[in-house]
Amino acid sequence: MLVLQNFIGGEFLDAKVANFIDSYNPSTGKVYAKIPDSTEDDINFAVEAAHKAFSKWSKTHRSVRANIMYRIADILESRQKEFAEAEVRDQGKTITFATNIDINRSIYNFRYFAGYLLHMEEKASVLDGRAFNYVKRTPSGVAGLISPWNLPLYLLTWKIAPCIAAGCTCVCKPSEFTSVTAFMLCSVFKEAGLPDGVVNMVFGNGPSAGQALVAHPRVRLISFTGGTVSGLKVNTTASMHLKKISLELGGKNANIIFEDCDFEKAVTTSIKSSFSNQGEICLCGSRIFVQSSIYQKFLDAFVPKARDMIVGDPTDPQTEVGALVSKSHMEKVLGYIELAKQEGGVIECGGGRKQLEGELCDGYFVEPTVITNVKPSCRVAQEEIFGPVVTVHPFETEEEVINLANDSPFGLSCSVWSQNGSRMRRVAEAIDVGTVWVNCWLWRDLSMPFGGTKRSGIGREGGEYSMEFYTEQKTICLAD
Ligand code: NAD
Repeated sequence: MLVLQNFIGGEFLDAKVANFIDSYNPSTGKVYAKIPDSTEDDINFAVEAAHKAFSKWSKTHRSVRANIMYRIADILESRQKEFAEAEVRDQGKTITFATNIDINRSIYNFRYFAGYLLHMEEKASVLDGRAFNYVKRTPSGVAGLISPWNLPLYLLTWKIAPCIAAGCTCVCKPSEFTSVTAFMLCSVFKEAGLPDGVVNMVFGNGPSAGQALVAHPRVRLISFTGGTVSGLKVNTTASMHLKKISLELGGKNANIIFEDCDFEKAVTTSIKSSFSNQGEICLCGSRIFVQSSIYQKFLDAFVPKARDMIVGDPTDPQTEVGALVSKSHMEKVLGYIELAKQEGGVIECGGGRKQLEGELCDGYFVEPTVITNVKPSCRVAQEEIFGPVVTVHPFETEEEVINLANDSPFGLSCSVWSQNGSRMRRVAEAIDVGTVWVNCWLWRDLSMPFGGTKRSGIGREGGEYSMEFYTEQKTICLAD
């Protein structure tokens, strides 16, 4: 049995109270790791370590910080297979997705922000030829970084990389469901020569360890990715201390397919945007709107592809859909499928748990499910299901579909499929979300702002936006 320890001040330590959380392998339904159920005392200890490390790290030359980050990326890359296999065991995702997306993008997060750091410039200006103004940028302090279970290492490193590039130190609280790769990452930090206390990892539950981190007065900023309900609690606590906050929350993203699209590409990519990572990506397009003239043609092409997807052993490179992260999450997803039936929905394919054989017989597998005949206003088309379940709805006009897409409490992302240039621009600009993909999905340029509107979050991260978040800027005006 794998037993995790916290990583504080460069040392692997047991939590102060020896309680543990069971961590399941979602493919087998068996406990395979024990996660420290850390308390406020552990958080306090870690924040002290981060605070102590801050005074030196914040003044460390940026080329030194960048070199360490490049080393972290290189070591991670040399252990890519080991990390991908661990992510599969811990999360249930397929080995192909873990390798190509999770670990690949984790490596890139460190490389990108190391490079960004080396090329940062500050603003300066001369006022009326009499006064010279310049910006002095300083790291904000100790950051609390809280991450979810769907893309465990990828989303954690999306926070750690800009944080330490900016000269901040941090205490991380990964998801209690998927803590193993975060634990493994600590050994990479040690090997890369990251000074003790710059990154601290405390494992445990959200309402205890997570809340203690958010409430700690020495933690100046919180970057949180997770569900909207938890995000609201984090926001309430953080705002009482006037902390800087970045919230990347849930989504219920529209995928809009016009009759003039590249049909093959729209269908193939919609399969990915619906079912990649078992639909457990905040950016999945779970509400598919198809123009009426091609609605039936779309279903005729899309449904068989969804039905034929290989659901199974996530360690097999042929597998396309792995296991959902936990039993409770699987039950929630299946509950939404039942609700769809009650709401008059037609299950075009899937609709249930996928029962596998042998070692995988207790795994949390759900068939890719396509639902039609439900109103866009019903619960299954409005609430975040976060599983391999999509609803498909016909629409007539551009104006109608813009209204339908915007009729959501969330505002994270949207995809648009059309070959008409002015329509692409019109629709993309009219949808109230943080990211719109036109004729593609999940392409990311890390220099672009990433975040959501409405109940999908507050703030933007990426490139200069992350640097804004992790630093304070002071304007200095020098006159003679
Ligand atoms: P969650 O909110 O249950 O947990 C996320 C993290 O927050 C975990 O580490 C958890 O322990 C911690 N946490 C929970 N309650 C807390 C509290 N009161 N105080 C402090 N920390 C707390 O979310 P989840 O189920 O792990 O992840 C799925 C959700 O994350 C989905 O809603 C998904 O859309 C969202 N998500 C959003 C993005 C994005 O970029 N917008 C990316 C990935 C996932």
